[in-house]
Amino acid sequence: MAEVSLYENALKQFGKAADIMKLDPNLREVLSYPKRELTVNFPVRMDDGSIKVFTGHRVQHNVARGPAKGGIRYHPNVTLDEVKALAFWMTWKAAVVGIPYGGGKGGVKVDPSPLSIGEIERLSRRFFSEIQMIVGEDKDIPAPDVNTNAQIMAWYMDTYSMNMGHSVLGVVTGKPLDVGGSAGRTEATGRGVRIAAEEGLKFMGDNPADATVAVQGFGNVGSFASKLLKDEVGCRIIGVSDVSGGLYNPDGFDIDDLIRYRDENKALIKGYPKGEAITNDDLLAMDADVLIPAALENAIDENNAKDVRARIIVEGANGPMTPEAEDIIAEKDIFVVPDFLANAGGVVVSYFEWVQGLQWYFWDLEDIRKALHKIMKESFSSVVNTARKYDTDMRTAAYLVSIERVATATRLRGIYP
Ligand code: NAD
Repeated sequence: MAEVSLYENALKQFGKAADIMKLDPNLREVLSYPKRELTVNFPVRMDDGSIKVFTGHRVQHNVARGPAKGGIRYHPNVTLDEVKALAFWMTWKAAVVGIPYGGGKGGVKVDPSPLSIGEIERLSRRFFSEIQMIVGEDKDIPAPDVNTNAQIMAWYMDTYSMNMGHSVLGVVTGKPLDVGGSAGRTEATGRGVRIAAEEGLKFMGDNPADATVAVQGFGNVGSFASKLLKDEVGCRIIGVSDVSGGLYNPDGFDIDDLIRYRDENKALIKGYPKGEAITNDDLLAMDADVLIPAALENAIDENNAKDVRARIIVEGANGPMTPEAEDIIAEKDIFVVPDFLANAGGVVVSYFEWVQGLQWYFWDLEDIRKALHKIMKESFSSVVNTARKYDTDMRTAAYLVSIERVATATRLRGIYP
């Protein structure tokens, strides 16, 4: 069987929205290609003295609205096709929340788990030097992704700064707080999910303070979304799960207590005493007002979609529903806040980090939270209004909003020369 190209799949989603909005065929042609693809093969000296060559990519899909933005991942399955698709999606994610970025993504084909810290540092510094010709604070701004973290971003920033001869904070985001990171970055994606859930409940005519919520995945996104929905909105979090299984408590969990338990138990919630043990499938089928898949892609598939009872799904994870599941969920009239809107809080606060780095002026946490709230609320409204205008679902509407913005910028800038 021919291998399915992730990029071809991404183009199909784009094509569906482009058809609905009757996108000018010339713009469709331009937006169907990444602007720039760089592949580098680079040597790294390993601890035993041997030299290994690694392959990495950096792709910029579209930069009509601003510099490219997107993470860099370290994973053995990284391919150029995957990086192209991820860069393509970043274009729409930045556009749907209206921040002045285009889409970019990078990756190195490597399993970092057996590497020493020193090997990871040398690999990171050499890779960043190799892609230096296309990245930069006004060109392309990477960030963490799968298997990369704040320490690696600090090495990237330092490498670029060494090569330039002066510190350049704005070249990457997701840095540690002590070297130009932003307040509120860690909670940002969960906070964005909390805002999307509250707006979804209001849209459905519910009082958010009375809502019950089930959350799959209790990592960065799931635990912050749970905590903030409970503390700030007043929701009852009646179900949570992670890779070790799920828990049910009809009275609602004490999320701070559960986070403490998780942190003392190898990052797992298994065995937490104040809840009934359930499976991940039970969690997805829970009778809650809101379901937040915040673990993995394809968690909701054609087998379990029919059992979903929530009236609202807020996609914290990227791609948590298969296309087959999505059809079933649509038939059940469940209101879905799509991933690239619901989980955009992280990239929005990355944007704030970049702005702060460019100005060497740092905001306090309250300013960050207020600005994120405003952007998430306005983005939600523009997608809802577009869904109404075109009588379509929220995911298609989110594409329509973002394609319109990128197409307009591309048209206004014109084709050079
Ligand atoms: P994380 O590693 O901190 O947490 C992942 C959680 O999912 C863990 O609790 C883990 O136990 C659980 N999990 C893993 N496999 C599972 C399974 N089979 N069933 C149930 N639970 C399972 O990751 P994260 O940063 O919270 O990211 C979660 C999702 O959100 C991913 O899809 C990620 O791409 C997406 N996302 C994250 C961010 C961010 O800023 N962290 C931004 C945008 C999107």
